[in-house]
Amino acid sequence: MTDRLKQLFLLAGFLAGSALTALEAPFCRLAGDHKAAGAINIVVPEKYPLVNFAAEELLVFLQEGGNQVQPSPAVNPDALCIVLGDCEMARAAGVSLEGVPRDGYRIVKKGNLVFISGQDSKGPADFVKGDSGHLDMLEVQDYATLFGVYEFLERFAGVRFYFPGKMGTIVPQKTLALPESIDLLDYPAMDIRTVGEPGQWYDEVRVCANRRFPGNVKLAKMRSRHRILMRNMSNSLQKGDYINRFLKTHPEYFALGNDGKRIPEYKNRHHCQICVNSGIEQEIFADIKAFSQGLPPSARNIPPFSSATPNRWPSMFSQGIVNLTHDDGFVWCKCPVCAKIADADQVSKDLAQRQKVSHAVWKFTARIADRLKAEKIDTRLLLLAYHPYDQVPDFPIPDNIVTAIVLFPGIQGHNASMDQQDALLNAWRAKTGSKVSLRAWTGKYNARAFPGIPAFCHNLLGEYFSRRADWFSGAFCYEGADQFIFSYLNVYVFSKMAWDPQRDYKAMIDEHFELMFGPAAAKMRQYFDEMEKIWDQEIMLGMHETALGGVYQVAQPYDLWRKVFSQSRRDHFNAIFDAAEALTANAADSLERVRFMRKNVWDSVLAQAKEFDALQETVKNFRLYVPGDAYLRPHFGTRNEVQTIVSVSETPGSFIFKFHCQEPRITEIRAQAKGRDNGDTWMDFEAEVFLNPSGDQKHYLQWIANDAGALDDYAFTVNEPSLGIKWNGQAKVETRRGPDFWECIFDIPKADLGDYCRDGFPVMFYHKRAFNNMKDNELVTTYKWSCLSSKALNDPTEWGRIVLTGRDENLVVNGTFKGLEDVAQSRKTYREMKTNPEKQSLRFDHEQFIRDGVSLHISSQEVGNVGVELPVDISRMKPATKYRLSFFCRTQKLDGLGLRGEIYWGNGVYSSPFKEQRIKVFGDNPWHRLSYVITSPDTLPKQAYMYVRIMQSIGEAWIDDCRLEEVPEAKP
Ligand SMILES: [Zn+2]
Repeated sequence: MTDRLKQLFLLAGFLAGSALTALEAPFCRLAGDHKAAGAINIVVPEKYPLVNFAAEELLVFLQEGGNQVQPSPAVNPDALCIVLGDCEMARAAGVSLEGVPRDGYRIVKKGNLVFISGQDSKGPADFVKGDSGHLDMLEVQDYATLFGVYEFLERFAGVRFYFPGKMGTIVPQKTLALPESIDLLDYPAMDIRTVGEPGQWYDEVRVCANRRFPGNVKLAKMRSRHRILMRNMSNSLQKGDYINRFLKTHPEYFALGNDGKRIPEYKNRHHCQICVNSGIEQEIFADIKAFSQGLPPSARNIPPFSSATPNRWPSMFSQGIVNLTHDDGFVWCKCPVCAKIADADQVSKDLAQRQKVSHAVWKFTARIADRLKAEKIDTRLLLLAYHPYDQVPDFPIPDNIVTAIVLFPGIQGHNASMDQQDALLNAWRAKTGSKVSLRAWTGKYNARAFPGIPAFCHNLLGEYFSRRADWFSGAFCYEGADQFIFSYLNVYVFSKMAWDPQRDYKAMIDEHFELMFGPAAAKMRQYFDEMEKIWDQEIMLGMHETALGGVYQVAQPYDLWRKVFSQSRRDHFNAIFDAAEALTANAADSLERVRFMRKNVWDSVLAQAKEFDALQETVKNFRLYVPGDAYLRPHFGTRNEVQTIVSVSETPGSFIFKFHCQEPRITEIRAQAKGRDNGDTWMDFEAEVFLNPSGDQKHYLQWIANDAGALDDYAFTVNEPSLGIKWNGQAKVETRRGPDFWECIFDIPKADLGDYCRDGFPVMFYHKRAFNNMKDNELVTTYKWSCLSSKALNDPTEWGRIVLTGRDENLVVNGTFKGLEDVAQSRKTYREMKTNPEKQSLRFDHEQFIRDGVSLHISSQEVGNVGVELPVDISRMKPATKYRLSFFCRTQKLDGLGLRGEIYWGNGVYSSPFKEQRIKVFGDNPWHRLSYVITSPDTLPKQAYMYVRIMQSIGEAWIDDCRLEEVPEAKP
């Protein structure tokens, strides 16, 4: 028998009853007993790249599961034959794709023949175009046979594709067993199913080693069966190149700004802003018509998608849809016609004006849509309902417009903004009378300032789409993740729900943990679920009404590492992973996955915590260069009532510590203890010096003196039996009263300090204000030398240190604001930066400070920018070198974009880590240090400045100790 005859012979027994008469809901009909397959052959009657890849995927996973499988050029009566692709053989067998929606497929088995068939692009072009950017296959090409293959592997072979690679793919070791007959139809509930920026891959290893096959992230999207219908959801109109084509000949096509200029004439980022009442719609209509007639873009003088593809239209035009979404930062035109409709200056403030603008923008799109219908052009239009045209218009929207709703901030746990979002969605659903497309933000979009922290959203995504199962015709979730491994489960749940929102998402998530982690499923689920809750409730803080309107708030660094991921919580999660490892000790695969996850989704958090702790260490490296002055700060509370300065100097034989204590109640100071080693001196109005001369942060000496000449000296070892007051040194003390101050000078012989560190060591200075006849409710106030809010006094690990050699390497001039009150503003001293001097102020504050007895208090009573410019000593800097920019800050009722520090290199060039990392310091915060690494330019300018400002904000901020220091090269 020839091959051809064999095939006919086999097909003769096939029921011709599998053709669809009308589109049915997805179904899967199985009949007969399951029977283990012996030899399996994969047959591809009609070869093209996409089906070849589908065959490859099928072969790999069936083999990995332990099956005896091989490709075969033709159907073989002695094997189970899986025939792939939409081909003549499938159609002859009655497996028709007629009426099956895009991305749909059929799986049909009769006897020993299985057909997996979906609509595919059959072009000969190599379908893999590299891993960067968006993907032809996800976008332009059809690859539904591959979807069918994945379905077959999942449903009948138990394979699970959580993410590509061994760690994220479950392949059960079992022989394929299929029922006697299968008749399956499946297609997605949503036409758009995609995730933006799911993050970087976790290693360099390609799952498909063959470079003709997709890279890992692309492969993940393919196995998640994604479909991109529109590449650019927003900023679409600019792709039509209207500015270059018409600005000179038809300036009226573009929105009129202030002073008679058209918006494209301003050099802002989103400058393709059109006038919707200018007649530009004639041109846009002509473009759409040419596109739908299959003409090349050059027919309309539009640049193609790329020079390599001259016939492909730019991304505004794709797959039978033209996206008419305007550029971000929509500007309402000020021409006489538009001005009559709405007042451009009121659009962002006044809902009624916004409604009118929305109406006009939708009307503009509807006019084009109506004309397309009238001329029987079946190209659809897409418009994102995006601020300010997010308001539902009061006329019917033509059904050839795909309405996509922008939800910001998107899918979260239940809160008030979710209700508002639902209300908006419902209004649009009522208006269109159908499902709408969704553009939402999940994951990390709002909080990139927190690298290393996963933003799990798996339960919330499942619940979201499950509860709104018939709302959406498509969904694009923007993850904005830094690491793919942070978003893989979100992507998995989202993708499955976008395909079938009716599915039992809870069971699906349970199954994920069971299959991935076996005996540690519950522990690992606990970690993922608790982290999801932390992200949703403790890091994403929701919409907050401010002077600027709604501002989306996220946890700030100080809270993040001291509260959200406090040490006790870090211990808690460490214990979860320890337990998970113990539970999987006898399950090698599960243990490997537990360890993989620990490394990738938890150690990354610890690494960030360590980074923050290290910054706090630099806080502790609070240095005083001798000779120099230390300004003491309140031990409790934040307000500095009196100024206390300790001047440190050295003589050949001694260290001298001179306390100068401002004291308005000098006549009341308490001084009852007398003589040497009285033991009660600490109860009086007194001064104390603590020294850790060896620098071991363990052995320290302490001296306490009062106004009556009493002096107690002590020696301690932390957490060990100590000599205490029995230690005796040769220190001398002198005290002096002035009308409103007290002075106390300790002369401590170097001989008493033993072999002290010659370059400096930890110290603590302390001052107690105790008075005679204090009232019962009157508090003793105390001062110490520290930049920490910690209450510990006798822990040398929290002390500052005196430095006996070298100099301060801070490159910022006047970074502590010391003495600036007496100095005129200039480029060499400091300059105030204000947008409205009447409502903003900069004051030197002696009650609040960290370093030299004064801080800069920045205040703004209206939304604006205000701060200070400090010169940087560029002569000591190197090009292309890493520097650490840091400062202390404290904020009070600060609303808006918050506080920011940056280095200005001149000519509009900034190093702005706060801006780039979206760090926002706002609200009420105690003093804490912010610190980030920047790189100096390749060519150093003649002058540079540090700017510390509150941006577009209202409220109060204090800053101190502004620093820029070279980051030492890491030692190899
Ligand atoms: Zn206009």
